[in-house]
Amino acid sequence: MNQLPVADAAGVRRAAWRLIRHEPGAFGRILVLNVLATGAGLVGPWLLGLIIDEVQSGGAGGGGGESGSSGAGHGDVGRIDRLALAILISALVQLVLTRQARYLAARFGERLSAHVREQFLDHVLGLRPGVVEAIDVGDLTARGSGDVGSVASIMRDAAPDVLIAALQALLVVVAVFVLDPVLGACGVLGLAGIAVATRWYLRRARAAYLDLGAANSAVAEVLVTTAQGARTIEALGLELRRIEAGAAALERSRLARLRALTLRSVLYPVIDVSYVLPFVGVLLVGGALYDRGMISLGAVVTSALYLRQLSGPLETMQIWIDALQSGAASFARLEGLSELSRPPEPTGAPEPATTPETELEPADAPAPAPADDRIEVRGVRFGYDGGRDVLHGVDLEIRPGERLAIVGPSGAGKSTLGRLLAGIDRPRTGSVTVGGVAVAHLSPDQLRRHIVLVTQDLHVFHASVRDNLLVAKPTASDAELHAALLAVGAAAWTDELPEGLDTHLGPTGHQLGSARAQQLALARVVLADPHTVILDEATALLDPT
Ligand code: ATP
Repeated sequence: MNQLPVADAAGVRRAAWRLIRHEPGAFGRILVLNVLATGAGLVGPWLLGLIIDEVQSGGAGGGGGESGSSGAGHGDVGRIDRLALAILISALVQLVLTRQARYLAARFGERLSAHVREQFLDHVLGLRPGVVEAIDVGDLTARGSGDVGSVASIMRDAAPDVLIAALQALLVVVAVFVLDPVLGACGVLGLAGIAVATRWYLRRARAAYLDLGAANSAVAEVLVTTAQGARTIEALGLELRRIEAGAAALERSRLARLRALTLRSVLYPVIDVSYVLPFVGVLLVGGALYDRGMISLGAVVTSALYLRQLSGPLETMQIWIDALQSGAASFARLEGLSELSRPPEPTGAPEPATTPETELEPADAPAPAPADDRIEVRGVRFGYDGGRDVLHGVDLEIRPGERLAIVGPSGAGKSTLGRLLAGIDRPRTGSVTVGGVAVAHLSPDQLRRHIVLVTQDLHVFHASVRDNLLVAKPTASDAELHAALLAVGAAAWTDELPEGLDTHLGPTGHQLGSARAQQLALARVVLADPHTVILDEATALLDPT
């Protein structure tokens, strides 16, 4: 079994950008609202600085008078009242804007996370059957559950919060610079510790979280394969070995988690200490400048309050930075899968996914439509997993209207030839073409319209009879479904089902015997209506009559 590929950092950035570009308008509105909300938040401390300066100058103007009943005093009080009212209004405006920005960001994140889930499903369904068989089921399961969930929660919660926090922090620092460049420099210097620690953390976090993701996949793989092979394991008495394999996978996952936690335990204390440094720096330097009459007291207080406001965004970033890294690693794992299912772009030089320990190839560029329905096999040789050849130079031509039966001893390679004809495996040498186009280069969609392989491996979806049939032709009417069931001799029993085509199949619904399941599979073939059907003992379970 092959591990699925993981996208590199550039691939993840491109994918994230593609996601955002999905709704550029919403992203722009969120940015604008956040800038306005942060701007409104900066008005309060600035007005407070003005009040302080006003009180200070009023006090000096009062000449040490005891009451505020002098003419100048009345004027000051009126202005201070107006400034205080303006502070209240700015706080209300900030509240409304922040609420609206968060609401839009949460909805935006929710839509993106839905998009990520849908994309994952599309990518899995777009994989060639040969790739699906070759990959590690546990890895695919872990990506489809844990990784999709982690990315969705990042899109919904972390990404909007971090975006807002980063904007707030930036605007606050800019505001202090505008107020007084020296105090601004103090604030930035005080934040240097956070910058260094964050850089240290980010350099290590991607590898740590990718390792954790791979370790979780290994746990899922052990669980899934043990559950799937439970009967064989019992029959051969392999329980202890499976338990040991499970324990080893869990131990690897535990160690990977510990390594990720260690990184966090270094970053967090540094951020905690760094909160207060810019604040303290501005008070000390601002105090000294004020003493020398180089700055007003109001400007010092406003700067200190601004830098105090940094604690909110910094705390938000501290809370989410870990989740963001783990989400980015999950995103890289999901993108790795998409690079397998997405055909290479026709122009430019897209960077390939890094594919450790795997020979999985990315999807092919879309193949041209086959010119006709003739199938040609020329000089085909094929061996499984690079092993010895099981087909040795097969030549075959199948013309429209022909029926071909392939007979031979067990292990002769009949099923293997069927898989090559159906495009599941690719020949090692030689070619298998339909209408002049290599069968293995056709996309699953294209292929389904030309050649369908039915084997003894049946699958009944846990869904209604109708949905089980519609997978082959989503647009089919009930009349078409009935005709298909009639054609394979299944109409008699499907008509008697309690809810007809709406009867739910599967362990929690109506249970089908294997012969009926096989009829359902054949009815799907009738609906798909390809020009060529390969039946690999596909009727073995049916009543011969
Ligand atoms: P049967 O009538 O028993 O189904 P067959 O003629 O269809 O046999 P194949 O199933 O095509 O034969 O097998 C041809 C050879 O390829 C056999 O030696 C078999 O062991 C080998 N083989 C089949 N599937 C695989 C696989 N997934 N991995 C490795 N070897 C395989």
